[in-house]
Amino acid sequence: MPYVIKSKYGLSALNIPTTCAYCSDHKTDDSIELTYAKNQMVIPIPGLLLFFSYDLYRYRFPACHQCARLFRVIGALGPVAIVLPWILFLLTIFLSWTHGERILIAAQVSSALGVIALFYKQWKFRAFRVGHEGDRETLFFCRSQRYAEDFSALNDLSYEYKFFVFKVR
Ligand SMILES: [Zn+2]
Repeated sequence: MPYVIKSKYGLSALNIPTTCAYCSDHKTDDSIELTYAKNQMVIPIPGLLLFFSYDLYRYRFPACHQCARLFRVIGALGPVAIVLPWILFLLTIFLSWTHGERILIAAQVSSALGVIALFYKQWKFRAFRVGHEGDRETLFFCRSQRYAEDFSALNDLSYEYKFFVFKVR
């Protein structure tokens, strides 16, 4: 998250670019629900930002419908892919079904894919997010310089590159 945009106002008061923040390809015609953790403490060290956060709240952010669908599909199927095969596997043990070994392998593969998909979702949808919301300023974290530029230009804001942004939940 190297680009940090500073604003006196929160997200709801700002103009959001019409290009999707997550793929940079499509126009935004849908939205996704993200969570934001309010910060308890900000430690300013030159070149980086260190946060300790708590208190989750939800907000919606525009996305193209392809990205929004991916967000919802992984969000719904990821946990199922992780948990369901293990329930099946336990059933095979308790009900003495055959093919227990195959189901065990399938459960491991399915869980691994589910975990990878959830990590991918986490990574992809952190391309732009509310980073810190204080009384006097809100910080947005942005992965792409082009999007940081567009967002800043649209709202008459400035952005700066940070070598490292670390937020402790
Ligand atoms: Zn998109």
